[in-house]
Amino acid sequence: MIIIMRDNISDKEIDFVVSKLKNVGLDVNVSRGVERTVIGAIGEENLADKEMLQSLPGVENVIRVMKPYKIVARSYHRTDTLVDIGGHKFGGEQLQVIAGPCSVETQPQMDAAAVAVVAAGCRLMRAGAFKPRTSPYTFQGAGVEGLQMFQQAAKPQRLPIVTELMDVRSIDAFMEHEVDAIQIGTRNMQNFDLLKEVGRIHKPVILKRGMSATVSEWLMSAEYIAAGGNHNIIFCERGVRSFETYYRNMLDVTAIPVLKRETHLPVIVDPSHAGGKAWMVPALAKAAVAAGADGLLIEMHPKPCDAWCDADQALTPEELATLMQQLDAVARAVGRTLL
Ligand code: PEP
Ligand code: MN
Repeated sequence: MIIIMRDNISDKEIDFVVSKLKNVGLDVNVSRGVERTVIGAIGEENLADKEMLQSLPGVENVIRVMKPYKIVARSYHRTDTLVDIGGHKFGGEQLQVIAGPCSVETQPQMDAAAVAVVAAGCRLMRAGAFKPRTSPYTFQGAGVEGLQMFQQAAKPQRLPIVTELMDVRSIDAFMEHEVDAIQIGTRNMQNFDLLKEVGRIHKPVILKRGMSATVSEWLMSAEYIAAGGNHNIIFCERGVRSFETYYRNMLDVTAIPVLKRETHLPVIVDPSHAGGKAWMVPALAKAAVAAGADGLLIEMHPKPCDAWCDADQALTPEELATLMQQLDAVARAVGRTLL
């Protein structure tokens, strides 16, 4: 940590800053220039509170040298970490596509969806049983019964299941129904109590980006999970809020190479919640694969016009199958595989 002092400061002000740093166990190096004095603090940077130092008399600026995230940082683990969901690895040469409806509705709907997921060549399935809806008057999800329907549809197809957790009180049901990976939705990316809980269990976590979160905040949320002992984390970019109203969210393709550089953990993309329209999904999915994503999370409904939620953005089974063929070609062009 580097503390830059204002000009014309007194020795007393310098000594005060030095004593504050030493008190928390940091080594201190004071370099007095003609115009400026710069204080270097060496040691565990998190011991000193940046805002507290910034408030001290005579301090102009405090600069952190270390990144605030550790376990999820590329510097902690130089090679790519593979995260396994039900025997399928994320972060390796082969890309994974998790597909399925926005929400679990009925058993026939889930059965048909599971068959379509496999027919398209996808190896994992998604669907929400607990839905974070903007309005309290719309369908809130089938709950625990939904987890049951999900497994009943997915098991015969040998599909690992991915579903959203909104409340720590549902964790027991998630364990009992053998959910393979827990999705943390955009609205809960900074629900730190929820993150701490999923950090304690050893199920893979797909951490979606908060709709207004910076990459740094997103990494810190992953650090919350990792700090609890669970390092099986996959980042999922799903678009951020912008000034644009033509589409639902703006897919931040730039975040893909940035995250691949900053973290050793896999990065996937949800083109469905980004575009918000089914016709946009193929273009966004291909862009994500070309930019280095390790996989995709795509909404597909056996009959989109009957969907209880996010009908506009769901692909049909045929559209998903066609897209998988196209994505396979894009994957090969960038040195990856898919099917
Ligand atoms: C979802 O995947 O169904 C969902 C609600 O996503 P998000 O949290 O990205 O809005
Ligand atoms: Mn949805």
